[in-house]
Amino acid sequence: MRHKQYQEEAMLERVSQGWRTLATMLVEAGREKARENGSFVNPPLERGSTVLFPSVSAMQKQGQRLYEHETIYGAMGSPNQHRLEQVVATIEGASHTQVVCSGLAACALPLLTFLAHGGHCLMPDSVYGPTRRFANTILKRFGVSTTYYPPLATAEEISTLIQSNTQVLFSESPGSHTFEFQDVAMLAAVAHENGAKLIMDNTWGIGIFKPFEHGVDVSIQALTKFPGGHSDAILGAVSVQEEEDWHSLRDAAVQLGQMAGPDACWLTLRGLRTMAVRLEHQAISAYRVASWLKKRPEVAQLLHPAFEDSPGHEFWMRDFSGAAPLFGVVFKPDYTYQDLERMVDALKRFGIGASWGGYESLVLPSLGSVTRNVSKPFPGPMCRFYIGLENWQDLVADIEHAFHSLSTSKMVQN
Ligand SMILES: *Cc1c(COP(=O)(O)O)cnc(C)c1O
Repeated sequence: MRHKQYQEEAMLERVSQGWRTLATMLVEAGREKARENGSFVNPPLERGSTVLFPSVSAMQKQGQRLYEHETIYGAMGSPNQHRLEQVVATIEGASHTQVVCSGLAACALPLLTFLAHGGHCLMPDSVYGPTRRFANTILKRFGVSTTYYPPLATAEEISTLIQSNTQVLFSESPGSHTFEFQDVAMLAAVAHENGAKLIMDNTWGIGIFKPFEHGVDVSIQALTKFPGGHSDAILGAVSVQEEEDWHSLRDAAVQLGQMAGPDACWLTLRGLRTMAVRLEHQAISAYRVASWLKKRPEVAQLLHPAFEDSPGHEFWMRDFSGAAPLFGVVFKPDYTYQDLERMVDALKRFGIGASWGGYESLVLPSLGSVTRNVSKPFPGPMCRFYIGLENWQDLVADIEHAFHSLSTSKMVQN
């Protein structure tokens, strides 16, 4: 009992420490100039399309500085966008970041940058649903084929799926809804041996997984989630390390007209300043709620990386400095999807809705949002919990109450 308690205390530290270490950087990043020049703490919101120059030659000179995030027109970015790009690059450990209008646009942009007609893409079977749809429709229409691989496939298994025309190996760690943590360094090695780029959706692990230290070439962020943090802005970011990749990415972004409105950039930059304290608090609450769920007879498995039977637990232990407050719950096969839907409807404190990352808790049954081609399905129905800033004990009481709807529908055998 003492041992168990000690383990739980150690895990509370393990899920939260990485967020805490981000706090100082998040307060200081992108503010060097502001502190020197006697201006307000936060940058002003600057809206604009046309940029004016003193002469034609000055405009031409500025136009040549495209790769330095300079802009001669609002469609190429704005001061607010550039400021946010600096901060995201610092968090990701990147040399350059391009901010775009949504997380999904941040998934599409590097795929359109690094894939060409006749090419091939390898996607984890656990990839975010709209990214899968993009590959299966638009990429396909433009002559790019996609193969789905089991997210926990070994290097040998992935090597057999590589083709001579494989240009991109895609990773999302953990996977959407099923939360498999991948061996990213292994994926990078396989990609690079075969002349492909490793593109990773790092939304869950922002700040607690450093993609470029593990061989990732391109890192994707849905800034809508933790950076925004208040469910009131949609934004995405794509980060790279190599100068050559930056030129390719920046060219594609400008040619596709990809940018972000200054209002969303301003809100997201403001949200980022408090991300470390929000997430440290939420990571602890989420682990407490998950630990409570783990002991319940209705629950078969927790898809939270702090638990040893969670898929890819060892890679989370090795590579991440904390855990996000978003996890899955697999219920016992005794229950149907309809039972789960009734339980979710009975929750009073959890919002039912798409996305996550705000200050408020959310829940969603996973059926419908989960399409899998090659992975083994989980035996029982699943749902996804997002733990917000509420008191965790209030959330547990709410779940306990909603679980009554499960026991009235079925006699649970322990
Ligand atoms: C939410 C999400 C996206 C898309 O972000 P939006 O800003 O909602 O378009 C992409 N990838 C992952 C992993 C996400 O969770």
